[in-house]
Amino acid sequence: MKTGYPLFRCKACGFPRSINLFMKWNSNGTITANQWVWGNDLRILILRQGFVNQLFAHIEGHLGLSIEHIAFEAERQASMAVFKAFPDKVPGLDRLTRLKSVRKLWVLASDQIAAMLGMCSSTTSEYVPGKFSAGEIRNPFNLNLLGALIAGDFELLEKKPLKVTWEQIESNRYRILVELAAARSSISDRMSPDIPGSTSMLFPSRQKRSTGLLSGSYVHKRCPECKAPTALSSLKWMEDEGVIMDTSNWVRFYIGDAYFIPAVFRELASELGEDAFSIIIDSVKNYTVTNPSHFGLDPESRPRNRESLKNALQRYVSYLPLLGEGNPVYLNISEAGLEVTIENPYEPLVVAATLQGLFEWMTQSKSSLEWKVPTEGRLYCSIKSV
Ligand SMILES: [Zn+2]
Repeated sequence: MKTGYPLFRCKACGFPRSINLFMKWNSNGTITANQWVWGNDLRILILRQGFVNQLFAHIEGHLGLSIEHIAFEAERQASMAVFKAFPDKVPGLDRLTRLKSVRKLWVLASDQIAAMLGMCSSTTSEYVPGKFSAGEIRNPFNLNLLGALIAGDFELLEKKPLKVTWEQIESNRYRILVELAAARSSISDRMSPDIPGSTSMLFPSRQKRSTGLLSGSYVHKRCPECKAPTALSSLKWMEDEGVIMDTSNWVRFYIGDAYFIPAVFRELASELGEDAFSIIIDSVKNYTVTNPSHFGLDPESRPRNRESLKNALQRYVSYLPLLGEGNPVYLNISEAGLEVTIENPYEPLVVAATLQGLFEWMTQSKSSLEWKVPTEGRLYCSIKSV
C-alpha cells in the first residue's frame, strides 16, 4: 500500500539520502540533527522498538501501576522541543504557521517524516486548523508514545493543548483523532526535557549552554558516495509501511529523540528515590537477557570461552556509536569480569544495565554491577560474576 513519497536512496549503498541529510554520525559516539537544518545540538537515537515497549511494561509490573501518562508527557514535550527547533532556525516560519495553508503543508510533511523515522505509516484524511485532524495510522511503534509525538507536533501549530484518541480498525491499523483538550496534564511542568545547548522555547531565559559532550575519535566506516555508516547497511527502510527493519535479525528500529527516556527516569527517581535505579536496571536487564537476538546474538549459541566472550562484547559496544548511544573508549575482560568506559552515554543506567544483561546472558551467571559517572559525560562500569 503506497502512502507517501519513496525515499531517495544512495545508488552505491542504498541508504536513504534524507536520513543522511538530517542526521549526523559524530566521532564522539553521538548522532545529532544536522546543524544547518536544526540549529542546535539535538541528540538523536536509533532505538529498538521492543526495548521501549518492554522497558515500560516491566517498570509498570514492578510498580503495579501505569506510567503511561509520565511517558506520554515526557515524549510530548521532547517532541515539541525537537519540532520547535526547526521554526526557531528558519526566520519567519513560526509566523507563517499561523496561515492555515502552511499548517496543512506542515501536517502532510509530518506524515512523511513519521514514515521516514520508522514510527508509523500515517495518512491525514481531514485537517481543520484550529479544530481537529483525523486520519489513519498503520504499524505504530508504540501507540501511547506516537500519540504524544503527534500531540506535541500539533500543539506547536495550534498553540493549545490537544488530546489524541484512537479507534482500532484491524490489527496494527487505527483511526486517529487529534482535537483540542481542556487542559494539559497536571505533571506537564515537571516533564521538560533537559537539552544541553538548547535555545528552544522550553528554556527561553537561559543562555545557550555547553552540550556537555566529550569530543571523541571514533571512526565510522562510511560509504564513499553518501558517507552513511556502512555498518548500518542491514537497516531496511520500508517507508510505505512506516517501518525500519534490521534485516540481519528482523528487529524493528525507529528513530527518536534522546531526551524522553531520561525525563521519564528523572520523574521516577523524584517519586521513588534510590529504588528507581534498581527498578530501571532490573527492567533493562530483563529486556536484554530475554532478547539476545536484538543485540545481534544467536540465542542458540552463547560464547564458549573468554575470547569469544570478548569478541561478542566488542561487537556489541562497537554498535553503540552507530545507534547514537555513546562512545566506547575502554573495554577490559578478565577472570574477575568486565570493565567498560563509555563516553557520552545517552542514559548511563540503560547502557550499564544492558551491558550487565548481556554479560549475564553470555556467561549464564549472576553478576554484580558497579557504575559511576566519574566526570560529566563519562560512564564507568564494572561487572563481576558472583
Ligand atoms: Zn551510500
